[in-house]
Amino acid sequence: MAATELDQIVNLCKRRGFVYPSAEIYGGFRSSYDYGPLGSLMLRNVREAWIRTMVQQRDDVVLIDAAILGPAQVFEASGHLANFSDPLVDCTKCKQRFRQDHLTDPNVCPNCAAVGAFTEAREFNLMFKTQAGPVEGSGTEVYLRPETAQGMFVNFTNVLQTSRKKPPFGIAQVGKSFRNEITPGNFIFRTREFEQMEMEFFVPPAEGPAWYEYWCNARLQWYVDLGIPPEMLVLRPHADDELSHYSAGTADVEFLYPWGWGELEGIAQRTDFDLIQHADHSGEKLDYFDQATNERYVPHVIEPAGGVNRAMAAFLLAAYDEDVVNGETRTVLRLHPRLAPYKVAVLPLSKKDTLTPLAKQILATLSDRYMCDYDETQAIGKRYRRQDEIGTPLCVTVDFDSLEDGAVTVRDRDTTEQVRVPIVEIHTVLRDRLGF
Ligand code: ATP
Repeated sequence: MAATELDQIVNLCKRRGFVYPSAEIYGGFRSSYDYGPLGSLMLRNVREAWIRTMVQQRDDVVLIDAAILGPAQVFEASGHLANFSDPLVDCTKCKQRFRQDHLTDPNVCPNCAAVGAFTEAREFNLMFKTQAGPVEGSGTEVYLRPETAQGMFVNFTNVLQTSRKKPPFGIAQVGKSFRNEITPGNFIFRTREFEQMEMEFFVPPAEGPAWYEYWCNARLQWYVDLGIPPEMLVLRPHADDELSHYSAGTADVEFLYPWGWGELEGIAQRTDFDLIQHADHSGEKLDYFDQATNERYVPHVIEPAGGVNRAMAAFLLAAYDEDVVNGETRTVLRLHPRLAPYKVAVLPLSKKDTLTPLAKQILATLSDRYMCDYDETQAIGKRYRRQDEIGTPLCVTVDFDSLEDGAVTVRDRDTTEQVRVPIVEIHTVLRDRLGF
């Protein structure tokens, strides 16, 4: 299969209602996107797949949902106010602005090819600042969080006391983060508003390296389990000069995007940096007393931090395929059933009133368990192609024989194979096919 081009995904997303450019009727709002009927379902599925693996299937991780707006103190303590910046250069010829660390040649402008025309690099803080309350002045400045992680650190004691967990244990969160990126781009890969799925795993200091290795492997495997071919993924440890100031080791899960390898998720050993910073700045104790050993210590933290939108782009790119069925080329999204916007489409063979009641009745029982689509327009072949293109794993077709034999046709997206299934067995058959 030929590598998927980014344009193929961008077009499909627009055409089928996954992702639209934001504020399009006003000419668009650069590098912002709105998620349509299918995209919003898929985003939710990515989020839920992560929560299922990271929280539901474990007894040592709990979920929180912290505030997006935060006071300056939080980001002073975290180091974001001082350090969360990118080096910026301007081209004096074409007036374009670039991230210095993203330039292929630090002397040549990628826009106008001017040589040696860059200004000195300036540090540009990536946080969005706004105003809380009606009065301007000191103390009213607040920030939109640039990562969800600080919510876990500032709630460490709250969660420890209310959840009855003890290290090793994790606090997870999925939610929006905001960064005033200098060079957003590559569709939903880098935007100024995006969603993160992050987990802070608190461990006894000596266990840090072993848990770091554990989470690197577990996070890579998550993408494989959800259908990304292993050869499109790599775990890349950071070189020493790439490490953040707090990190004792970081590795990125990278995906082979159409423009090359790019970060999907980072796994970092943040040591005790964050808890110590917040304890110092707030004056609160952020540590753990182990009654078994009579020891008090500040836990070390391993953080897997991924992006919901970036993951969605990768899942779409890896799933996109074109093949030939009955001499006709079709586009098919081979999405994992957990990620597919619709799990099942119910399709009455014709729009005739005679089939509608039975089809609607089947739809009602299936929608109780699955997100389903219902489509009664156009020829059945066209409707199958439509479902293939949006990644629906199974179609259930109700035809005139169904009224006589109490059976329907179940069609498989990947093989296009069709089997006749008694309606009374439909739930069992779909559960077996979908895996849930
Ligand atoms: P990059 O180097 O690509 O800017 P980062 O190393 O700054 O990413 P982290 O701070 O580790 O990213 O954030 C964790 C995850 O959040 C990233 O792996 C990515 O999936 C997601 N993410 C970060 N910035 C953005 C963005 N601007 N748009 C979309 N997703 C993002």
